[in-house]
Amino acid sequence: MISESDALARVLEAMTTLPAERMALFEALDRYAAQEVTATVPIPAFDQSAMDGYALIAAESRTTQPLKVTAEQAAGVDAGLRLQSGCAIRIFTGAPIPTGADAVIMQEDVRREGDGIVCTEPVAEGENIRRAGADLCHGQFVLRAGEQITPGRMGLLASQGLDQISVHALPRVAVLSTGDELVAPGSGPLQAGQIYNTNGLMLRGMLARLGIRESTQAHCRDDLPSTTDTLRELLETHDVVIISGGVSVGDHDQIKPALKELGIEPELWRVKVKPGKPFLFARSEKSYVFGLPGNPVSSFVTFLLFVRPALLKMMGAADALLKPRLIPATTGADLSNPGDRPHYLRGMFVKGQFMPFGMQQSHALLSLSRADALLRLEAGQNLQAGDAAEVWLLD
Ligand code: AMP
Ligand code: MG
Repeated sequence: MISESDALARVLEAMTTLPAERMALFEALDRYAAQEVTATVPIPAFDQSAMDGYALIAAESRTTQPLKVTAEQAAGVDAGLRLQSGCAIRIFTGAPIPTGADAVIMQEDVRREGDGIVCTEPVAEGENIRRAGADLCHGQFVLRAGEQITPGRMGLLASQGLDQISVHALPRVAVLSTGDELVAPGSGPLQAGQIYNTNGLMLRGMLARLGIRESTQAHCRDDLPSTTDTLRELLETHDVVIISGGVSVGDHDQIKPALKELGIEPELWRVKVKPGKPFLFARSEKSYVFGLPGNPVSSFVTFLLFVRPALLKMMGAADALLKPRLIPATTGADLSNPGDRPHYLRGMFVKGQFMPFGMQQSHALLSLSRADALLRLEAGQNLQAGDAAEVWLLD
């Protein structure tokens, strides 16, 4: 059995990043940038008003003399106005600042008097003016390779006039559920001894969260010929096949024998982690195989530990993004791990506290469904309520 960190290192070393493709910015949502972008359009693009009000000379806002309103500048086309002393120019949010003005007074802070205004609150020089380039200046990084295309970054890229971006391709992924006992949800009632296939949907949901919204769902029974045939077919048409179940040592566990039939030697099998010990990783000529234990929590945890970073690397994510999101916390209960493997507990993260929830066995789907955080307890580690710990925040 190898350690969790060795297993992850070996998986990551085997993964290659997929090539880049250029696409519409909107299509690229959640993908990882294959190019860097530097700013060509500053933000703001020009000195502009932050308010609806009047452009003026700040010093003149301190007099009680009315200032004559001589012109108007709305957002849109720059009228090229010039402000004279003793005057003000009606201005609106986002409009270019007229030459000669050094502040904008909010319309709430003036009193209209005929064709002029009297300032009721003075303004300081520069007040309510957004200076060109104050947020983003020419040449500054807008996007680095390996960063994810989020809605916020999409907005920033659009501010540069871009509607296309180069991102890494998505892997073609198949999820293969194995087991004679499995019935597809929606396909009718269960016979004695049967269960609905939960891992298939769950794993595809986890893929979708990573940005892989399309994936193949397949099922095979626990017999060697059909497992071998299904695997062969999936490996021909997918970059990654994620198998759940059938990777343990039971007489009906057909994944290792099927891989052998296909001439594929596992790169690793059995990892020192709970849940998830029977985790398997293999590669064929063109594809990768992840064998996750069938218990739903084991599938869930091993997906997060090994499959998620592997897929992110294929998708071109920067190294820092492959790591879990760890947050300092305190434990809300006494926790102990008497076993000889690190144990990932499922729980809820509430106001800085990790509360384990429900049963912690590897089949306990209810507690998994409520969990938004994992806490890793080292082998032999004991924590008391109130102790400091790090938790892994889930999406
Ligand atoms: P296995 O790893 O195939 O030995 O399965 C371990 C446990 O997980 C057994 O109780 C299986 O019935 C269950 N299991 C396997 N695959 C699934 C699945 N896709 N959905 C729900 N439970 C499963
Ligand atoms: Mg099975």
